[in-house]
Amino acid sequence: MPSPDDALTAVYRDLLLDHFRRPRNSGALEHPDVAVHQRNPLCGDEIELQLAFDGDVLRDVRFRGQGCTISQASASMMTQRLQGKSVAEIEEVARRFTAMLHGDREAAVDPALGDLRSLAGVARLPVRLRCALLAWSALAQGLSERPVDQKPE
Ligand code: ZN
Repeated sequence: MPSPDDALTAVYRDLLLDHFRRPRNSGALEHPDVAVHQRNPLCGDEIELQLAFDGDVLRDVRFRGQGCTISQASASMMTQRLQGKSVAEIEEVARRFTAMLHGDREAAVDPALGDLRSLAGVARLPVRLRCALLAWSALAQGLSERPVDQKPE
């Protein structure tokens, strides 16, 4: 008999593979405010992330990429989780997600993380951290390069 833990792991593995095979928000935006390209040379993963803002809110997000299941599934789940959120909300989700990857067990059951919880197992695979965090690193760069509202002349 598989233990409940094994069953949960199987569900999470299916979720990861589903995001890898059918990435959400895949593609490019017509008028992105920011476009970021990052690579993880350790694994050959690449992410190109495009963000469009409406004031403080991430109105639209798309990504293109290639690489391992963890890197691409993480990007897909990230875009799904963050579209329509404010910058403050995005930074909070990013903080909890990073804590989860570093072994925070409370974060691993945090409903705010949604499908992203399926990456909790990466906490036991330190060499894959860079894979799971690649899209989030691109996101942090994108947020820092985000154009701030121009004052009217
Ligand atoms: Zn990878």
